[in-house]
Amino acid sequence: MTPLTLYNSLTRSLEPFRPIDPANVRIYSCGPTVYNYAHVGNLRAYVFTDTLGRVLRWKGYPLTHIINITDVGHLTSDADLGDDKMEAAARASGHDIWRIAAHYTAAFKQNLKDLHIGDPAAFPLATDHIAEMIAFAETIAERHCYQLADGLYFDTATVPDYGRLARTGSDDVEGRIDPVAGKRHPQDFAIWRTSAPGENRQMEWDSPWGRGAPGWHLECSVMSRKYLGASFDIHTGGIDHREIHHPNEIAQNQAYCDCADTGATFWMHNNFLVDRAGKMSKSAGEFLTLQALVDRGFHPLAYRLMCLQAQYRSELEFSWDNLSAASTRLKRLVHAVAALRDRPAAPTTGATAPYRAQLDEAVADDLNTARALPALDALLADKRISPADRLAALADFDAVLGLDLLTLRREDLRVRPVSAAIDAATVEDRLAARREARAAKDFARSDAIRDELAAMGVEVMDGDPLGWDWRIDT
Ligand code: AMP
Ligand code: ZN
Repeated sequence: MTPLTLYNSLTRSLEPFRPIDPANVRIYSCGPTVYNYAHVGNLRAYVFTDTLGRVLRWKGYPLTHIINITDVGHLTSDADLGDDKMEAAARASGHDIWRIAAHYTAAFKQNLKDLHIGDPAAFPLATDHIAEMIAFAETIAERHCYQLADGLYFDTATVPDYGRLARTGSDDVEGRIDPVAGKRHPQDFAIWRTSAPGENRQMEWDSPWGRGAPGWHLECSVMSRKYLGASFDIHTGGIDHREIHHPNEIAQNQAYCDCADTGATFWMHNNFLVDRAGKMSKSAGEFLTLQALVDRGFHPLAYRLMCLQAQYRSELEFSWDNLSAASTRLKRLVHAVAALRDRPAAPTTGATAPYRAQLDEAVADDLNTARALPALDALLADKRISPADRLAALADFDAVLGLDLLTLRREDLRVRPVSAAIDAATVEDRLAARREARAAKDFARSDAIRDELAAMGVEVMDGDPLGWDWRIDT
């Protein structure tokens, strides 16, 4: 197999991947803040980490993957100003904050299942680790922190090379970091936030620095270390985390170990899913969820395929056209696989090895799934290879791309848009009547049924090359 090369944000370069322990590759992914549903942009981050995990497993590395759940501490700004997102959501909805966290955590896990993203070893909650966070902060407080009226702050000048990951010197932080009165340096950040007098928080705990809540960055230092050890292989997150959250985690890790070690060998970041209509920001109000795509008649795996059509480090534009194109491509793949199953056995005169090699070369090159997809198309179409052998080779692509092509059926892809006035059984029933009419050469009746279906938003597709027969227009 081709040696795996991954882009390390720390060095801003492609590096050969060498596991610390080949028998257990350890990955930590910053998880969602569960004050609302994930938008599809957030989900791109987990399609990326799932692909990373799949590639590593396929290449023979057993894995321990952790995705945390941020249920406290993340403010409306990634730095130190604003409200706690969880508290604000609880106040706005009038619901108990723990119920909100449980609801959106469950919804997130369902999103992952729908996208065929494998379960990590654990989904640790920040609020289950408060005592450990306080203990961690106590260890570093004296040498690396200072107290202000509103909490305990980390002095970023006490660790080597602060900002190495973000590539920011102390001059470029203006506007990026919130000015908090009393901070020694603009980049300094809260480790523990003390509740203001009269502030009514649903989540707060006692600490040596007063009653309050942990700063957002602390949980990831504590939980990654607890579940994966002081030095693990890969830490992931969206590209926004490269600027504030991850540099701050690194600073905490260095303070704790009293060394220059950042905590992970590779820091990897997926680029953003962007949307011209501005539907990718939860705080901006209306945003696109996976359910919104399903409501429009798209299967979640069409979204996964849309993500895989781009390399994770390039920006990807969300549009309904892009999603439609991915959906058509997925239907074509499922159709091709179904056709292979129906084909009679035949001898193989060609080799599948070159296709596996193309898959390997593509994903070994910093997870270039976009390049693996044409190899999959070519494999399925290669008539020199017997149907059974093509299906066997497909299993490798499925293992890496996670499109579930060996089990996905055509019917699964026929997702009924919420706006549809008709259900699938009725369509099938009307089409059966139409076939009878055509067999009896009653074309007037056949046309009438077609028009009747059209009036209900169903397009009849006679002779569709994919055998799709009909679809509900959205
Ligand atoms: P959050 O729930 O805001 O903590 O974000 C969860 C994950 O989604 C983080 O890794 C973010 O960096 C990532 N993320 C946020 N917005 C986008 C986006 N538009 N595209 C891709 N990833 C994103
Ligand atoms: Zn994190």
